[in-house]
Amino acid sequence: MIIAIDGPAAAGKGTIALKLAKHYGLNHLDTGLLYRAIGRLMTEQGLDVDNAAEAGAVARKLKAKDLNHPDLRGREAGELASRVAVHPEVRAALVDFQRDFARTPPGAVLDGRDIGTAICPEADIKIFVTASPEVRARRRTDELNAKGRDVPYERILAEILERDERDSHRSAAPLRQADDAVRLDTTALDADAAFAAAIEIVDAGHE
Ligand code: C5P
Repeated sequence: MIIAIDGPAAAGKGTIALKLAKHYGLNHLDTGLLYRAIGRLMTEQGLDVDNAAEAGAVARKLKAKDLNHPDLRGREAGELASRVAVHPEVRAALVDFQRDFARTPPGAVLDGRDIGTAICPEADIKIFVTASPEVRARRRTDELNAKGRDVPYERILAEILERDERDSHRSAAPLRQADDAVRLDTTALDADAAFAAAIEIVDAGHE
C-alpha cells in the first residue's frame, strides 16, 4: 500500500504520516527533508540556493546520510528548502529515490507537496491535509515556545504565508490537491482527532 499525504507547512501532515505508517506497518518518508538537506548542503558549501544548475548538481549527489543532520527541521532550513524546491532540476533528481522508496515492500507513507500529483499518482490513498494559516502559525509558535524559543506569532504567520505562496505558485510540481485526494482540514482538530480522521479515510478507501 502507498499512502500519499500532501499539504502546506505546519498543517499536521508529518505527524499524521508518521502515525499512519506505524499503524499500518509501512515505511515512512518525510520528503521535505530531501529539499531541506539540499538547502543546507548548499549554504554549507557557499553555493547560491537560487541557482538552478548548482542546486541540481547538489541534488544529484544527495546521500541518505545527508537526511540525518539535526538542523534540518528548523525554520531556516524550511525557507532554504522552499527556494531549492522551485528548480525543476532539483525535483527531477529526487523522483527515482522517492518512487523506489514508495514501492519497496511493504509500501510506504510519503508526505510532502507533490506526492499525490507527481511522485506517486498511482498511490492507493491520497490525503490533502490542510488548516487555516492562522491555526498553522499558532501551532508552530507554540511548538517553538515549548522548546524555549521566543519567536513572535506574527513572524511565523508571515513565514508560513510566504512559503505557501512560493510552494503554490512555482511552475514545477506546485502544491495542489490531487483530483482524487480526500481533503482533511485539521483547523478544528487536535492531533488525536486528526489521526482518527486519517485512519477513517484510509480504511474507507481500502474497503
Ligand atoms: O514539509 P517541509 O516543511 O519539510 O518542506 C520544506 C519545503 O520543501 C516546502 O516548503 C516545499 O517548498 C519543499 N517540498 C517540496 N516538495 C515536497 C516536500 C517539500 O517542494 N514533496
